[in-house]
Amino acid sequence: MTEKTYDVTALFGSDVFNEAVMKAKLPKATFKELMKVIHEDAELTLPVAEVVASVMKDWAVEKGATHYTHWFQPMTGITAEKHDSFISPVGDGTVIMEFSGKELIKGEPDASSFPSGGLRATFEARGYTAWDPTSYAFIKDNTLYIPTAFFSYSGEALDKKTPLLRSMEAVSKQAMRILKLFGNTTAKKVVATVGAEQEYFLVDKTLYDKRKDLIFTGRTLFGAAPVKGQELEDHYFGAIKQRVSNYMKDLDKHLWALGVSSKTKHNEVAPAQHESAPIFESANLATDHNQLTMEIMKKVALEHGMVCLLHEKPFAGVNGSGKHDNWAISTDDGLNLLNPGDSPMENAQFLTFLVAIIKAVDEHADLLRLSVATAGNDHRLGANEAPPAIISIFLGEELTEVIEALVSGTNVESKHSQFDIGVSSLPKFPKDTTDRNRTSPFAFTGNKFEFRSVGSSLNISGPNIVLNTIVAEALEQFADVLEAADDFKAALNTLLVDTIKKHKRIIFNGNGYDASWVKEAVEVRGLPELKSTVDALPHFCDAKNVELFTKHKVFSEVEIHSRTDIMLENYSKALNIEALTTAEMAKKEILPAVMMFEKDICDVIISKKNAGIGYAVEEALANKVDSLLTSMNSKITVLEEATVKAQNITEVLDQAKCYHDEVFEAMQSLRADADVLETIVGEKYWPFPTYEELLFNV
Ligand code: ADP
Ligand code: MG
Repeated sequence: MTEKTYDVTALFGSDVFNEAVMKAKLPKATFKELMKVIHEDAELTLPVAEVVASVMKDWAVEKGATHYTHWFQPMTGITAEKHDSFISPVGDGTVIMEFSGKELIKGEPDASSFPSGGLRATFEARGYTAWDPTSYAFIKDNTLYIPTAFFSYSGEALDKKTPLLRSMEAVSKQAMRILKLFGNTTAKKVVATVGAEQEYFLVDKTLYDKRKDLIFTGRTLFGAAPVKGQELEDHYFGAIKQRVSNYMKDLDKHLWALGVSSKTKHNEVAPAQHESAPIFESANLATDHNQLTMEIMKKVALEHGMVCLLHEKPFAGVNGSGKHDNWAISTDDGLNLLNPGDSPMENAQFLTFLVAIIKAVDEHADLLRLSVATAGNDHRLGANEAPPAIISIFLGEELTEVIEALVSGTNVESKHSQFDIGVSSLPKFPKDTTDRNRTSPFAFTGNKFEFRSVGSSLNISGPNIVLNTIVAEALEQFADVLEAADDFKAALNTLLVDTIKKHKRIIFNGNGYDASWVKEAVEVRGLPELKSTVDALPHFCDAKNVELFTKHKVFSEVEIHSRTDIMLENYSKALNIEALTTAEMAKKEILPAVMMFEKDICDVIISKKNAGIGYAVEEALANKVDSLLTSMNSKITVLEEATVKAQNITEVLDQAKCYHDEVFEAMQSLRADADVLETIVGEKYWPFPTYEELLFNV
């Protein structure tokens, strides 16, 4: 039965202080000033802020808001908020609702407990939040949310938004230089655009509550493979179950009210796995909206008696969850620079940006890899379901042909006049042909790149900061050469041909999951393979990367070092919680359950013995269980010793390495015994819900 419909256009953005609301509510002059701040990077003045704050507050109060909060994205990976009410006493025991320009522009949360990687010395624990007018304020749960950047007293970024905004400026600046060379006089800036496809699992809340591992770590630390998995491929794009469908409908309503353009929803490959994708927007908004989406997904799931799992690998042996980061750059007047055009000139411009991206990805594959490195994503990358830990570019056959023709000087099907760089017409790229290779970490999909290595729980600012900055660098080098050239077309031709020759090793259109690719990539092509988080993260501090980020003013050297430390610490913390939870579940839940099972078998043996009946089966089973029990018990000790050892290491990288090499290995080994036991021990003894129950009960 189809529910009565509602007016989606009226609902959409109804809780957002968006441009339409601003236009309707702000005095004309203020609106104009604010638009300049939002669209043309003009400075925000206090008088303007005063007016905006007052109007924003009235609008919010009318919609039921009692509080406001500066909403920011500290290095914890989730968002942070501290709520202040609008009330202000007037001296006679009553209050009015007040909100000043100053309160809108700047906040001073007590920030000493947020990770700063040593950036804030303890005597100066203050952190400041500053309004980001390019991301709309919104109302959630009777609070006005003001998106902000978070930084220290001396101006160092303490968050994920500040460097993203800086990187967007960097890529805009350099892309504009290229556009000018091609004669573009209309664009005022270039905007990085992003659409993040979000994968997630839904599990039943009552089952979830019985699993400490899900509660504390977001993933199952134990669990034998279910009898039925994803082998029938009956879930992907399959009919959506009613309970899930109700959830998705509700989710859409919440997201639409908040102005998140949730567009596509479908079942994913694994049982209980789903996906939600929005319509793309500026990288900054896409990041804020993806953070909001993840939060709302969890909240709405609870209202439906379910839990939304955003971990990259909730279930071993079952596909994990990623977040495809679709990225492109467009002019502010709407021209997508990664869209092959209709004229030879547009095609030449497109190829210039494309070749710059090829160069950028080849020179900084290490950065792209480390931008997605987390404890959770280590379970996916390089496994047989997600892109390999080696970064390469998928261009598709047609485009690869064009690139090769450019290098060899042969012409591709000359139907139109030429732009003198050897390419006259570009083939159109139908989606089904460009998008068919799902094994590539970085794929050209017609008019954008899709970075597929991103983990499902990650804040997408990191990968997009890297993309924006490395492309800015390649474009800058291109612009330097081309601006100095006497003959633009000849110079462009040489530049593109030389660049392709130098960097075409990064292009790979084959199967990224194939073992032979890993061998070829590493041994023949010399591409970096950074297998794990602890292999990848330290490269952030490599001289070439420090130079890159400082040059484009995206990160200072101190910020790079502090962030590396924070990310390594986050890795160690995640592993530490997993290790403690593993040991606790093994000792307090699995061992006692197995012992009860063993005792019952022994009781049968005794009865049978007394009755003079053979008990060979029981004896064999008891022995099998007992040897696994003994093995598991000793592995608990190994895990606990490894954990203590790791906890006592003070150097961050050494500590992370110990968690990776010793603690993780010990956990895996212990789990292997427990998972075998799960398949032997009677069902009624097993202390928590199995994969079957979790995956097939929603
Ligand atoms: P799929 O990858 O599943 O085939 P689409 O290609 O239609 O689906 O879109 C995937 C995501 O890419 C969507 O979130 C979409 O909005 C986004 N996207 C489309 N065009 C762009 C662009 N120019 N820049 C950034 N993201 C884009
Ligand atoms: Mg996609």
